[in-house]
Amino acid sequence: MSSQAQIKCPLCSFLFNQGDRICQGCKGRIYYGATPYERNEAKKVGAGIGGLIAIAIFFISMQLSIAINFGWFILLGVVLAAVGAFLNWKRVVDKDPSKITVTK
Ligand SMILES: [Zn+2]
Repeated sequence: MSSQAQIKCPLCSFLFNQGDRICQGCKGRIYYGATPYERNEAKKVGAGIGGLIAIAIFFISMQLSIAINFGWFILLGVVLAAVGAFLNWKRVVDKDPSKITVTK
């Protein structure tokens, strides 16, 4: 009796072991949690949100007539985009680690 958890392939119903990378039933690629595509999309969306926040801060400071070197806004945009990308990536990775996706 094996202690290893068995998972039913959502594509072909073959039972594979937790940790397997390829389904022996349909030869599909097995992903645990978010797929690489979902992780990449999450990074792009997070970076976009970070960039938008930086632009918003830029316009608010213009409205308030706060003089800040434009170079600092570029830096702020890069930092916020990187932070946003990381946070949204982490959110997607942590969302549902038990999710199983099989792609052919
Ligand atoms: Zn399968």
